[in-house]
Amino acid sequence: MRLLVTGGAGFIGSNLIRHIIDLPGIDQLINLDALTYAGNLQNLEGIHEIHPKYAFEHVNLTDVDEVERVVRTHAITHVIHLAAESHVDRSIQNASPFMQTNVMGTLHLLDACRAVWKNPESHRFIQVSTDEVYGSLGPAEAPFTEDSPLQPNSPYAASKAAAECLVRSYVKTYGFPAIITRSCNNYGPNQHPEKLIPTVLTCLRDRCPIPVYGNGQQTREWIHVTDHAEALWQVLEKGVTGEVYNIGTGDEWTNLKLIEHLCDIWDETHQSSSSRQLISHVTDRPGHDQRYAIDASKIMRVTGCGPCGDSKQVIRKLTVTG
Ligand code: NAD
Repeated sequence: MRLLVTGGAGFIGSNLIRHIIDLPGIDQLINLDALTYAGNLQNLEGIHEIHPKYAFEHVNLTDVDEVERVVRTHAITHVIHLAAESHVDRSIQNASPFMQTNVMGTLHLLDACRAVWKNPESHRFIQVSTDEVYGSLGPAEAPFTEDSPLQPNSPYAASKAAAECLVRSYVKTYGFPAIITRSCNNYGPNQHPEKLIPTVLTCLRDRCPIPVYGNGQQTREWIHVTDHAEALWQVLEKGVTGEVYNIGTGDEWTNLKLIEHLCDIWDETHQSSSSRQLISHVTDRPGHDQRYAIDASKIMRVTGCGPCGDSKQVIRKLTVTG
C-alpha cells in the first residue's frame, strides 16, 4: 500500500503516522501538510526525514494541481484524509478558511484520486469526520447512530458535513471507494495548546484562570488519539466502501467535571492545593452544542475494534506528565 495521510503534522495525523508506519501492509507513507498554525513537524520527531518509508509533501489542499501531482507521482493507492481547519472558535471568527480547506480541499483530493485511480477496487479513501456533524443531543436522548440526520451547528461542523456530503456523492455517482468515519473528541500527545485539555493543563502549570464556557455542563465523549488511530487503520483494512462508521467510547464527561478532575489530579501530583479555585466561568460560545454522544456498535461489529483504555487513567497520565 502507498498511503497518503493528509494533515500528518497535526494532532491526530502525527499520532496516526507513529501508530501505523511500521506495519508491514504499508510500503510507503506520504504526509501531505500545509503546515498551518496547527501543523508541526516536531510532532513527527524520529520519523520525519528519517524513516525509510516516509516522505513529506509541503502542499496546500487548496492547490488543485499540486494535490493531483502528489497523488500521481507517488502512485498513491490509499488515502486517510485528516487535513482540516479544526478549531470551532476560529470558525466562528472566520468561516472562510474552513470552507476553503475542508470543502474545496476535499473536493481537490477526491478529483485527484478519481483522475489517477483506474480500478476502484484496488483503492480506498477514508474521510475522517466528526460527531459534531450530528448537532446537539438532549441529556436523555439516545446517542447518535450513523443514520441520524446531519444537523451541524457551527461553521466548522457545517464544513465537515459539507465535505462528507461531497464524499458520499462521489461514492454514489462515480462508485468512488470511500468510507466516512465520525469520531468523538480526541485527547493525547501533540494536541494544539488551544484545545480544551491542553488549555487546562497550561493554566494549571502557569496558575492562571481556567476558562470554562457558560456553566460547563456541555457534555462530550472522549477517546484517546491512539485508539482513534487504531480504529482508522481497522476501517481502512476491514470497512465497507460507501459506509459510515462512528468511532467512540461511550465515555461521556461534562466539561466542568473533566476540568475538576484535571485540577484534582494536578493537586495530588504537584503538591499544590485548591486548583479548582482557578476555574473561571466565561461567556458561553455562540451556538454551543449541549451534548455529543455516539453509538459505536457498528464499528465494533465490523472490525472488532471496541472502546479501549480507561480515559480516567490516560487523562491522569497526561496530567501527571503535564
Ligand atoms: P489539527 O488542527 O491538529 O491538524 C490539522 C492538520 O491539517 C495540521 O497539520 C495542518 O497543518 C493541516 N492543514 C490544515 N489546512 C490544510 C490545508 N489547506 N492543506 C494541507 N494541510 C492542511 O487537527 P486534528 O485535531 O488532528 O484533526 C484531524 C482531523 O480529524 C480533522 O479532519 C478533524 O475534523 C477530525 N476530527 C478531530 C477530532 C478531535 O478531537 N481533534 C475529533 C473528530 C474528528
